[in-house]
Amino acid sequence: MSDTCLAQAGVGILQVHPTPTCNLECAHCYSSSSPKARGTLKPDRLAAAIEEAAALGFNVVSLSGGEPLIYDGLETLVDAADHVGSRVNLVSNGILIRSKRYERLAGRFGVVALSLDGLAERHNAIRGSASCFESVRAASEALRRAGQPFGIIHTLCSESLGELQDLAGLASDWGATLLQLHPFERSGRGASATRLTALCAEERLDAFERLLIDNTAHLIVRVVPLVVPIFGLPALLSITPPAALVSSTKSW
Ligand code: SF4
Repeated sequence: MSDTCLAQAGVGILQVHPTPTCNLECAHCYSSSSPKARGTLKPDRLAAAIEEAAALGFNVVSLSGGEPLIYDGLETLVDAADHVGSRVNLVSNGILIRSKRYERLAGRFGVVALSLDGLAERHNAIRGSASCFESVRAASEALRRAGQPFGIIHTLCSESLGELQDLAGLASDWGATLLQLHPFERSGRGASATRLTALCAEERLDAFERLLIDNTAHLIVRVVPLVVPIFGLPALLSITPPAALVSSTKSW
């Protein structure tokens, strides 16, 4: 799909991954992010890209990573998006939601999305930390109290399929309004993850149908099966075409 088509569709999302550095080193990470990963992009270059993309109709900027709350230029990117009237969403593992950097930016995000790989045992095992599940729960609580709309992003694999409805219930109990599913893909560190299995086409359909039919949690459910790299920087900038978004209720 061309940029023009995306602009005409009115749903241009620019996915910005400003740094591969992360405070975690998850087993399935498609960008092979970790505390040691290097390759951070300069804020002024990304700010210019955000402004140019807005002129093409990409009016939503999704800041992800690595962990975006580690990135020193985060305020510059939020300012650039504000300058051109783009909405900014933040994708985080939740650990730094109660940090000074987040506090300085609080209230400037349309939606904050917290990644959660399953119920406590599975999430902590994949993330390699016994406290990660509690971090997401505490971050959810902080966002809910602040009145910040937030969602849960789940990397769905065959092993977590059976927990999906419990996960939706949990997200709803915590105050999330969105559950976004990213089917696990064998890329980055995920290529060598031995305990995770990518869903077959039938399982993907089954997962979405289950939540559509039995959406007792009344969440907005989205499946994002495709992210397209642009600008020759596959891990750092990408777009999510409208055709790749499947929503069960309304737009996010
Ligand atoms: S999956 Fe997310 S939280 Fe985990 S290492 Fe990758 S970027 Fe960091």
